[in-house]
Amino acid sequence: MQQLMINGTVRRVVLVVLDGLRPDAITQFGLQNVLRLARNGASTFDARTVSPSVTAAAMGSLLTGADPARHGVQSDRFHIPRTAGPIHPVAHELARAGMPSSGYMAHVPWLMRGLAHRMVAKLGFGTVRFRGVGALEILASARASLRDQRTGLLLMHWPDADDAGHKFGWMSPQYAEAARTMDAALGLFMKIASLDDPSTLVVVLADHGGGGRTLRGHNSDHELDRTIPLIFAGAGVRPATLGAGLSLVDVPATILTALGLPVPASYAGRSLLAPRRLPATAAVLPRPAGTLAVA
Ligand SMILES: [Zn+2]
Repeated sequence: MQQLMINGTVRRVVLVVLDGLRPDAITQFGLQNVLRLARNGASTFDARTVSPSVTAAAMGSLLTGADPARHGVQSDRFHIPRTAGPIHPVAHELARAGMPSSGYMAHVPWLMRGLAHRMVAKLGFGTVRFRGVGALEILASARASLRDQRTGLLLMHWPDADDAGHKFGWMSPQYAEAARTMDAALGLFMKIASLDDPSTLVVVLADHGGGGRTLRGHNSDHELDRTIPLIFAGAGVRPATLGAGLSLVDVPATILTALGLPVPASYAGRSLLAPRRLPATAAVLPRPAGTLAVA
């Protein structure tokens, strides 16, 4: 079993979703900033996303901890679903503990805007901004919050690689260009987010791959559609290569645990942080370093 440590107390999690970025694109196109973050953090290029491997289902799982069968978004259509049983969105759990959540995503057409805002409010986000068309513009839209919001959850969703994959095919020259744009945005983000700050945990992952069963799609059980990169980084994270068998649904449980909160029973994944044995007076003591336990 491989273990890695998070030293210090995490107060803020920045979650960056690189839509449609296949792990082999990172090495093949030499995405230096992703590679550096993976090398300096705890990472695997062999994690799995949910089924179906589509953005709406994966984002639903990331933000509620539930698998798609439970949270109810089982297609690539964003809608307010009928859930199978109670769900406990990450941002709601944070809000109950007095921590804010904010999200930064691409511009949506005005016809969709009402629905988009209702969905995000239902997920418990206090602040959400749909502005910009790609990673660099969305990062710019999140910049003030990256500076000022020092606790809770800050989410950025970057669509570039997925957009290019659907238009031109996964691993096409245009897809490579889009992947490099996301890499450049990540480099800029690393400068802004001061990764030497041990109270910030950065989580970078893709929601799915692509080009598995069809060149311009990603909705299948094919390995290339289901395999994703998953990186935990920040000053407190001890560099390590994470083991096999990790899933996107482990991320929300890990986020809650990193912020010192319990994981609801409705969560499909497990926290990668080993449970901390705390004395009864733990509430007034600084939390000890956590251990990411990986099979
Ligand atoms: Zn897509």
